[in-house]
Amino acid sequence: MVKSKQYFIFTFGCQMNKSDSERVAGDYRARDYREAKTADEADEIVINTCSIRKSAEDRARSLLNNLAKKFREAKRKPKIILTGCMIHHGEEKLLSMLPFVDEILPISEVGFNSAAVRRDTTHAWIPISAGCNSFCTYCIVPLSRGREISRPLKDILAEVKDLVNRGYREITLVGQNVNSYGLEKVGIGLRKLLLRQNLTLPSNVSQYKKAKGKPPFVQLLDKICEYKQIKKLRFMSSNPWDFSDALIDCIAVHLQIDRFIHLPVQSGSNRTLKRMNRGYTWQDYLNIVTKLRAKVPGVTLGTDIIVGFPGETDRDFQATVALAKKVKWQVAFVARYSPRPGTASYRLYQDDIPATLKKKRWQILENLINQPHLKHRPQVIK
Ligand code: SF4
Repeated sequence: MVKSKQYFIFTFGCQMNKSDSERVAGDYRARDYREAKTADEADEIVINTCSIRKSAEDRARSLLNNLAKKFREAKRKPKIILTGCMIHHGEEKLLSMLPFVDEILPISEVGFNSAAVRRDTTHAWIPISAGCNSFCTYCIVPLSRGREISRPLKDILAEVKDLVNRGYREITLVGQNVNSYGLEKVGIGLRKLLLRQNLTLPSNVSQYKKAKGKPPFVQLLDKICEYKQIKKLRFMSSNPWDFSDALIDCIAVHLQIDRFIHLPVQSGSNRTLKRMNRGYTWQDYLNIVTKLRAKVPGVTLGTDIIVGFPGETDRDFQATVALAKKVKWQVAFVARYSPRPGTASYRLYQDDIPATLKKKRWQILENLINQPHLKHRPQVIK
């Protein structure tokens, strides 16, 4: 009997990558590969990378160095495939920079419908869209994952039905900006606009036509909530643009939808938000929070914040502190700005905030929001 080949996957980064890795595994299963217990036994090794900060890329590089050393000593060379956000560097550059890598795999080639291989038997990630059109100036995602594509509703619902039948009771819908799921795009690409305006930043206000009636994302939530077997429905990431009143009403109506909402703010300074191309003001953000609190009893909130964005003055930072005191997030993922080659902020702004000051600001927000004695921290899947 021919022994089937084995694969092994290393996953770095966010829930989107974890969900993608489940589908990469599904693609291997469909080709009769089986999962190796350790990388040592694998015929093919996939490294699903993250680029959010330089340190994330450094971890993937260091893993590759370790693998290269290990397999040189073992006098064996499995096929090494690199995928995920690091592919924004381009195939040619990556293959010359990382000679141990044999192949670069754009994650879009795996597709939405490759059956996921899930470890968890009660909770499932379901991707509903891929890519992003928003071009926040610090973010590499639109370059690494391409423009936003929404997965057909019927495919998502078929996956939900199958999961329910197999006993899954918790679902998290994932996408870079789930609120814009299925909306029709307006206007030209922001990238073209950036170039045409000689890199003057446009507003990142919704690039989608307002839905006639319920937005498609709300329709999707309504449909999934028809399965009463589902006890917890989460989604991420949501962004303040496209966070419609209809979505707030939908959360209010369906008790299956988690009462913890993760809503990235990134900064409480309107000047910084504009330079980040986030396209809303702190007042807009607070307005959403106020509406959520009025309509969804017991709602709690989490957020993402970047400190030390180029040009962030003490006054800008204090505006974030002031917003934190107003919103009272339960949890915040506070990141120190790290310039990513290829992004607009890398081209436009100097990384001028000293590391010590970034750390100080990070610590202030950590102490303020993520206090260790906080007793009822929600379970955050990230
Ligand atoms: S919304 Fe902004 S931060 Fe989120 S993936 Fe898109 S560009 Fe990146």
